[in-house]
Amino acid sequence: MLSKMRTSSTPVQLLALDQKVMEAFVRDLGWPMYRSEQILRWLYQGRVRNIDEMTDLSLTDRRQLESVATIARAQQQSVVAAEDGTRKILLTLEDGQIVESVLIPEGNRLTLCLSTQIGCTLDCRFCLTARMGLKRNLKAHEIVDQVLTAQDYLTPGQQLTNVVLMGMGEPLANFDAVADAVTRMTNRRWGLGVPPRRITLSTAGLATRIKDVATLGINLAVSLNATTEPLRARLMPTASRLHSLKSLLAACRRYPLPPHRRLTFEYVLLSGVNDHPDDAVRLGKFLNGMRCKINLIPFNEFPGSGFTRPSDAAVAGFQAELRRRGFDVFVRKSRGRDVLGACGQLGRLPSAPRLVALTRSETDC
Ligand code: SAH
Repeated sequence: MLSKMRTSSTPVQLLALDQKVMEAFVRDLGWPMYRSEQILRWLYQGRVRNIDEMTDLSLTDRRQLESVATIARAQQQSVVAAEDGTRKILLTLEDGQIVESVLIPEGNRLTLCLSTQIGCTLDCRFCLTARMGLKRNLKAHEIVDQVLTAQDYLTPGQQLTNVVLMGMGEPLANFDAVADAVTRMTNRRWGLGVPPRRITLSTAGLATRIKDVATLGINLAVSLNATTEPLRARLMPTASRLHSLKSLLAACRRYPLPPHRRLTFEYVLLSGVNDHPDDAVRLGKFLNGMRCKINLIPFNEFPGSGFTRPSDAAVAGFQAELRRRGFDVFVRKSRGRDVLGACGQLGRLPSAPRLVALTRSETDC
C-alpha cells in the first residue's frame, strides 16, 4: 500500500487519505491500528500543518512519518472582508487553481459556504461561476481544507454553526468527493464533529442523484428558479436538459426526508423574468403538500449578466403570494455583495478600491 501511495520522490499527502486508506497506511508502517485515528485527529481536530506537532507520537515515530509523508494544506491566498462582516477566503491549491469560500456571520450564526468544484459543470445564465466553465472537481481534502482554513480565522470561543455546500460548483456532479468530505466533517471521534443537520447541500437539480444526499444525513436544497419548462431551459440550460422540472419535482416528492426535516427550495428572483405573481402561484402549486420551506434569492447582479434584481417591493409581493398559500418563505439576505461573495458571484476577484485585503497574520487573534 505504502509503495502504491508513494514514489521515491513524492511523499504521501496525509490529508488526501480517507479513513480506510489511512488505516492501510498505518498498517504498512507496522504501527498499531489506533495510530490511524490519532493522526486523523491531529489533521482535523488539531489542524496541524506539521507532523512534528503530533506530540502524542514519539519523536522516533514522528521522524519515521516525516520521512514518508507530509501535510500539504492549501496555501491561503487572501481574505477579502466585505462591509457587512462577510469574509471571502481564497485558497490556492496544489495546481495553482484558486478556490473560494465565504464566511458569513449573522446574529449568533456563523455559516461557511463551501465550493465543490473550480468553476462549474453547469451553465446557469444568472450565475457568474458558470462563466468560468468547469476547471476541475475538488478533491475531498480540498473541500475540507476550506473548513480548516476558515476555522483558523475564528476567534477563541467562536464556532461555525452551519456549513452550506453552495459555493462554486454543482456538488452532485462531484458526489464521491463531497460524500467523503462530509464524512470527515461530521465524524465525531476524529473528524470535525459538525452535526449533519447543520450541513446543507444545494443542487441545481440532478434529479437521479438527489436520493444519495439522504445517505449522508445532511439537508437538501434544490434550486428551482423557474416554474415552466421553457423558462427553466432558458435560465438553466444544462440542468434542464438533464432533467425536466417535472422529473425533478417527482424526485423531490420521493426523497426520503427524515422526520422533523424539510426540503429547501431556492428561487433566484430575476426582475421581469420569473418574478410575476403567476410564477408565485405556479410555484405554490408545484410544492403543494411538500414538507418544505422556500428561500427567495433576489438576483445578485454582476456586469454583463443581462438580468436585474427586482425591487424590494416586488420581492415582498412574491413572498406574500406564497405565504398566503401557507408556505414558510424567507428572503435570503445578500451578504458580501461588495466583494462578489454573494450567491452566484464567486469566481472573479473584486477590484473595488474600498475592499480590504487582509493577510493571515492581520486577522489572527
Ligand atoms: N450548483 C448548486 C450550488 C451553487 S449555487 C445550485 O445550483 O444549487 C447556490 C445558489 O445560488 C443556487 O440556488 C443558485 O440558483 C443561486 N444563484 C446563482 N447565481 C445567483 C445570482 N447571481 N444571484 C442570486 N442567486 C444566485
